[in-house]
Amino acid sequence: QAKDEGRNTLAFFDPRMQARLFSRARLEADLRHALAHDEWRLYYQPQVNADGRLIGVEALLRWAHPERGLLSPGEFIPLLESTRMINEVGAWVLECACEQLAVWQAESRTASWEMAVNISPAQFVEADFVPRVEAILQRTGAPASRLKLEMTETLFVEAEDRLREKMQYLRGLGVRFSLDDFGTGYSSLAYLAYLPLDQLKVDQSFVRELPESRSNGAIVESIMALAGSLGLAVIAEGVETHAQYEWLAARRCGAYQGYLFDCPLPVAELEACWRGA
Ligand code: C2E
Ligand code: MG
Ligand code: MG
Ligand code: MG
Repeated sequence: QAKDEGRNTLAFFDPRMQARLFSRARLEADLRHALAHDEWRLYYQPQVNADGRLIGVEALLRWAHPERGLLSPGEFIPLLESTRMINEVGAWVLECACEQLAVWQAESRTASWEMAVNISPAQFVEADFVPRVEAILQRTGAPASRLKLEMTETLFVEAEDRLREKMQYLRGLGVRFSLDDFGTGYSSLAYLAYLPLDQLKVDQSFVRELPESRSNGAIVESIMALAGSLGLAVIAEGVETHAQYEWLAARRCGAYQGYLFDCPLPVAELEACWRGA
């Protein structure tokens, strides 16, 4: 009896669990501080065509934490999503990315660069998501036709009625859509025909084991064939080696992103390395 009680007490005050709770609470407080103190940064990772020329970038969020340094999205996006703070931060990301796009548009050497921005399902389902994007485009003067929104298949699971309408409206403005991490979600293939998508982004987990893995090779070939017959473009993410690039290029993959070309960079470094390249 006493032993059982002791066990329960122990389980309740499990120090590891408590540490986790503390760090979550701490992280949440830090995130609120970050919102008010300008601690967000956007990094830009090149996306290149088969000739290795830059066609655009993906904006990737970083958090310049005052004590812990530069943090990657994996460390804070889940908490942002679960607290709905993602809407506020997501609006900042879009605004910052569109301001940058407008700057690039004004200079001939960067005018053709496209900007891909990640959008969480929690952002997309917000009632004012569409007018928010439209207002940001107007305010910044960014060319809508160079903005690409990256969404994931998890959005389809939420079975949002107005998803297609929202996408169609934005597409009417010129905005395009890419389906990120493709092949790792649980969506029905019917969505690929139903939604106004422009690009499939082959998940890096499939690319990682090329060219050795026959099964991953078969999956990537199928994705490329599927995209081709649906009239969708394809980009491979997580391309790290020449062998991966060559395997993909031999199958006429149109676009590439990965450490082989460059990692996500602050804007000054991106421009220094890629403007005029
Ligand atoms: P993602 O959109 O699939 O972005 C690709 C991730 O792969 C990035 O990680 C990028 O740095 C990393 N990566 C790029 N090339 C390579 C490579 O060759 N090898 C490997 N192993 N990794 C590579 P990052 O920046 O840590 O972002 C992680 C995820 O966080 C993103 O995955 C995206 O889902 C999310 N995320 C990033 N920025 C934002 C944002 O502004 N808003 C939202 N909602 N989500 C974001
Ligand atoms: Mg992405
Ligand atoms: Mg991805
Ligand atoms: Mg991802």
